[in-house]
Amino acid sequence: MNLHEYQARALLKSVGIPVPDGDVATTPDEVASIAKRLGGTVVVKAQVHAGGRGKAGGVKLAKNADEAHEHAEKILGMQIKGLMVEKVLVVPAEEIASESYIGVIVDRASEKPVVMVSPAGGVDIEEVAAQTPEKIFKQVVDPRYGLLPHQAMELGFELYGDVKQVRQAGRIMQLLVRAFWNAGASLAEINPLISTPAGDIIALDAKIVVDDNELERRPDIAQLRDVSAEAASEVEAREAGLSYIQLDGNVGCCVNGAGLAMATMDLVKYYDGEPANFLDIGGSSNPEKVVTALRIITSDSNVKAILFNIFGGITRCDDVANGIVTAASQIDITTPIVIRLTGTNEDEAVRILRGAGFEALTDMDEAVQQAVKLAREAA
Ligand code: GDP
Ligand code: MN
Repeated sequence: MNLHEYQARALLKSVGIPVPDGDVATTPDEVASIAKRLGGTVVVKAQVHAGGRGKAGGVKLAKNADEAHEHAEKILGMQIKGLMVEKVLVVPAEEIASESYIGVIVDRASEKPVVMVSPAGGVDIEEVAAQTPEKIFKQVVDPRYGLLPHQAMELGFELYGDVKQVRQAGRIMQLLVRAFWNAGASLAEINPLISTPAGDIIALDAKIVVDDNELERRPDIAQLRDVSAEAASEVEAREAGLSYIQLDGNVGCCVNGAGLAMATMDLVKYYDGEPANFLDIGGSSNPEKVVTALRIITSDSNVKAILFNIFGGITRCDDVANGIVTAASQIDITTPIVIRLTGTNEDEAVRILRGAGFEALTDMDEAVQQAVKLAREAA
């Protein structure tokens, strides 16, 4: 689950990281009144779950309340990477002497959180990692102790020459690890972390991604979810109890079991196709779930072929077959569908599908190749 910047900065503030004053608003009038209260130059910032808002015109400096009002009129309602801006954050503008990056991520290799910093901040960190990897510095965190003082100092010296600033930055890194841990995050980053001409170190932007599996034991974090800011398809899937992640390929995948879903995507890739999504319809699939799954998959206009891969264990193949037939009668599906199913009640499933004009395959390899081929022909 993604948090908005204004939510993430509140979490940073709660652990003691210095963030500028400010407030969120949903109308230009509210923006103007916040700007008036703050006084002086302010920054109006689009609150959407997307990076690169600055480049997209979603971050604007305003000299006074009137100008803030004007910017808000443009930013509220604009689209950034397909997401509608419904809220803006208004903060006092800071003077910037330097911009750095600091972040905490879960590192698969060390199976621990890793603190990553770079003096090349403010810009896209993926780009820095790709073009100038020597400008990125890391320390592995032992989750029992957090980021230790000597680790924080070491990283701090990669960002600043002044010992006072090194200490401040190091302290912020330790606190960021704490905020990361408190939120059950898979990522927490500050980009840019700035130094001001007066020498202070401040977090100017905040991004936190929460691990969905942590939400159950963190109700305070779970209630930060902003459904209106999420992709409609992902919201619908979650409410139906489906694990769905939209990707940008053209083979729509509908699979039972997360492991088989991963294997299916691997095989699609192996045959030079691109999966349009990850979708696990779960173990005990009822026909309803299949109908919802098909509605979600067909609403993605990139999808050129749909691939069902069902291994009937607890999931009964006839349930899935009934779901497909019901969906086909309710939704106008023009996309070709390839169905592979094997296992519990397979014969019954094949009978149901044939009756509705669908073919059913039992071989996974064959089904994947067919789906990839159909998607390619349609593209
Ligand atoms: P992002 O583009 O979505 O990452 O949004 P950021 O909050 O990181 O803002 C993008 C850029 O806008 C920053 O890297 C800064 O260069 C600039 N910016 C943001 N806030 C301020 C501010 O208070 N003062 C100044 N001078 N620039 C700012
Ligand atoms: Mn940023």
